[in-house]
Amino acid sequence: MAKATIRDVDVSGKRCFCRVDYNVPLKGTEITDDTRIRASLPTIQYLIDHDAKVILASHLGRPKGKVVEELRLNPVAKRLSELLGKQVLKLDDCVGQEVAAKVAAMKPKDVILLENVRFYPEEEKNDREFARKLASLGDIFVNDAFGTAHRAHASTAGIAEFIPGYAGFLMEKEISALSKLLENPDRPFTAVIGGAKVSDKLGILKNLIDRVDAILIGGGMANTFLLSQGYDVGTSLAEPDKVGEAREIVEKARRAGKTILLPEDVVVAEKPEVGVPVKVVSVDSIPSGMMALDIGPKTRKAFSEQISRSRTVFWNGPMGVFEVEPFRGGTLEIAGAMAAVRGFTVVGGGDSLSAVEMSGLSSKISHLSTGGGASLEFLEGRELPGVACLRDV
Ligand code: ADP
Ligand code: MG
Repeated sequence: MAKATIRDVDVSGKRCFCRVDYNVPLKGTEITDDTRIRASLPTIQYLIDHDAKVILASHLGRPKGKVVEELRLNPVAKRLSELLGKQVLKLDDCVGQEVAAKVAAMKPKDVILLENVRFYPEEEKNDREFARKLASLGDIFVNDAFGTAHRAHASTAGIAEFIPGYAGFLMEKEISALSKLLENPDRPFTAVIGGAKVSDKLGILKNLIDRVDAILIGGGMANTFLLSQGYDVGTSLAEPDKVGEAREIVEKARRAGKTILLPEDVVVAEKPEVGVPVKVVSVDSIPSGMMALDIGPKTRKAFSEQISRSRTVFWNGPMGVFEVEPFRGGTLEIAGAMAAVRGFTVVGGGDSLSAVEMSGLSSKISHLSTGGGASLEFLEGRELPGVACLRDV
C-alpha cells in the first residue's frame, strides 16, 4: 500500500491541518507520559523546517461531545512548546470565527494547537459540515494519528473529502511496517498470538493464518484452543462459545500444512496473585481447581525455537498474566527470543508493548506498533478509513 506523504507535496507557505494523537495520560493537569507528543515531533519539525503553517488537532479522552474542562489540551501545548523549543499558540476551540482569524494571521513556521476535537459530537459522527469547517482551516490535511486511523471521524477521515490528505512520518512508518507483514514477509514468517481473549483476536488469526508459516498460541486465549482439543482447563479463563471457531482455525492451519503450536505445559495456580503456590503441569493434567496462568518451560522452548528459525515475526498478546511476577516468565522468554531474531520483528498491542518494555529489550525489536486497535484491524486485512482517505502515490 503506497500512500503519499508530506515529502510528496510542497508544504512551503501552506496551511497544514495536521491530525496528531495527543491522547496522553493525565493526572490532573500533569502529563504522566509524553511519548505520544515526542512521537509527533519529526512530522512537525519537518513542516516547520519547510516553512509550513502548522495547525494541530487531536482528541483527548472521552468528553462525549461536550466541553470537559479537565480534557482541554493546554498541558499538551505547554509540553509541546518545551519539546519544540518554540511557542505553540493554543486556541480554546477547534472551529469558528476566532479560530479562523488566528489561522489567517499565521506566518510560515507558526504552530497552533486547536482544542480537543471531541468537544463536538460531530467529530465522532464524522459530520460532513463539521469536517468541512475543519478543512477550511487548512490547504492540506496531514494524518499522523495512526492510533485513530481505524475510526472514520471528521478529523481523521471526513476532512479529506475537502482537502488532499498526506501521511505524516509516524503514519508512514506504521503503514510500511505492517504492510511488509501482509505483503512481502521474509520467510519463515511466524505469528505469536496471546493475550486474554480469543474473541478479540479471531479476526487477526483468520487473516494471518493464510500468510504465515507458523502460528504460536499462548496466553489466556490458548485455553480455549486447548478446550477445543479436548483438554480440561480447570478454572482457567476460557470462552467455551468460541471452541468451535478455535477448532476450525487449528484444522485449517493443519490442512494448509502450517505449523501451529499450542501450549504443551502450563504454569498453574489457584489465582493470579503473588505468594500463591505455583506448579508446572502438562496440559493433559491441569488440576480442576486451578488456572493456567503462563506457558510452561517446554512450551517456551518450543516457541523460542520456532521464533529463532524465523526471518519475520509478529507478536501480539502476552503469554501469561505478566503483570504478576510469578506468571511473567513465558512472556519474558518470548521477548528474549524475538530480540535475538536476525530478521524483521514487530510487536503490537498495548499490553504486549508494556511487556516488551518490562523486558528491557524494546530497542532490539524492529518495529513497535503503537496503533493498538488500529494495528490489529490493519492486520485483520481491513481498510482503515484514516489511511484509505489519503492520496495514493
Ligand atoms: P494486547 O494489549 O497486547 O493486545 P491483550 O489485551 O489481548 O494484549 O491481553 C493482555 C492481557 O491478557 C493481560 O492483562 C494478561 O494478564 C492477560 N492474560 C495473558 N495470559 C493470561 C492467562 N493465561 N489467563 C488470564 N489472563 C491472561
Ligand atoms: Mg490489551
